[in-house]
Amino acid sequence: MEKLAIEGGYPVRSSKIYYGRQWIDEDDVQAVTEVLRSSFITCGPKVDEMERTLKEYTGAEYAVAVSNGTAALHCACMAAGIGPGDQVITTPLTFAASANCALYCGATPVFADIDPETYNIDPESVRAHVTERTKAVIAVDFTGQAVRHEEIRAICEEFHLVFIEDAAHAIATKYKGKQVGSLADLTTFSFHPVKTITGGEGGAVLTNSEAFYQKLMLARTHGITREEGQMEHPIQEGPWWYEQVTLGYNYRLTDFQAALIVSQMKKLDRFAARRKEIAERYNEAFSEIPELTLQREIPESDTCRHLYMIRLRLEKLKCSRREFFDAMGEENVQCQIHYIPVYWFPYYQRLGYEKGLCPNAEEVYQGIMSIPIYPAMTDQDVTDVIHAVKKVVENYRK
Ligand SMILES: *Cc1c(COP(=O)(O)O)cnc(C)c1O
Repeated sequence: MEKLAIEGGYPVRSSKIYYGRQWIDEDDVQAVTEVLRSSFITCGPKVDEMERTLKEYTGAEYAVAVSNGTAALHCACMAAGIGPGDQVITTPLTFAASANCALYCGATPVFADIDPETYNIDPESVRAHVTERTKAVIAVDFTGQAVRHEEIRAICEEFHLVFIEDAAHAIATKYKGKQVGSLADLTTFSFHPVKTITGGEGGAVLTNSEAFYQKLMLARTHGITREEGQMEHPIQEGPWWYEQVTLGYNYRLTDFQAALIVSQMKKLDRFAARRKEIAERYNEAFSEIPELTLQREIPESDTCRHLYMIRLRLEKLKCSRREFFDAMGEENVQCQIHYIPVYWFPYYQRLGYEKGLCPNAEEVYQGIMSIPIYPAMTDQDVTDVIHAVKKVVENYRK
């Protein structure tokens, strides 16, 4: 058996590899610098082009580019009319923004539990948490795998809820052949550098509803409109006339970020194919290891994998997750944990959420670990990661 690096052996690789990273080519750099040399560096033609590209790619009727994925979620909640006294059902196994957006609107996030095999929100648990006050469901396509659209859609229709899909992980994923972005009432994307394509920062909201679209546009820019149909007193004193008709924010995206996102969109299918290829190699390499459980895939989702997680069966290992994590790091494979259940955070605890609320999410959290997956990984990188996982498992096998 190979000696672990953490115990003084040689690491599997000499340079550190991380769980995710962007892929920027020379043409991306050029797309950005072209904008910087042009007349408009914000609110110009590249934002329009990005919105058009997203609509074409996803099949959604409307797309609104915003400054980041969190702003996209906030705008989606505002468009859905979420306000004080309302409840919004979401998952605890996500980035905090998926729940914080409800708090921004004065509403209460309610955590439904996850399916312990797919790690996505469990529609049965969603149903069990619906009350008179529930206004929306924010379902997260965790790791890129599409949520159970049909079941969630049915619950939303039955109780008149808005279906918001946090697809920060899931651009390029298809559900039953349809592109994520065209399916929920409102879908949000993030273009943070660890996501599948990036603008440095950036986000978007997609919808098929014109009414939602109008509200998203107001939310993005201070609640200000120049559209005659939206103004309350279209007095038209002159061409400068505009009105603030609601309270919005400055969630605009710059044109140079939009240009980077447009440039990256051209590579999205290539990036997605590579991510799938890597996930398949991992699935094959790990499926026979009894100390690991792999995320179950649902056949309806053709998944562009944003994160790949292994789940440790700690009862079969001599180590804790922390020891496994540290040993991987010493092999120069830097893992990450996605995510600490949102309601465990001190802020949520102070709001009165109690630990134990979602037993499946808490149980899954104890064993999961994200290993590197990103399109720029070479075949050798993938081999190294597999090697490191197997080496650490063998050393800690009971
Ligand atoms: C990244 C992420 C967000 C937030 O996106 P930002 O662009 O970082 O604001 C929201 N939800 C999930 C699930 C994410 O992974």
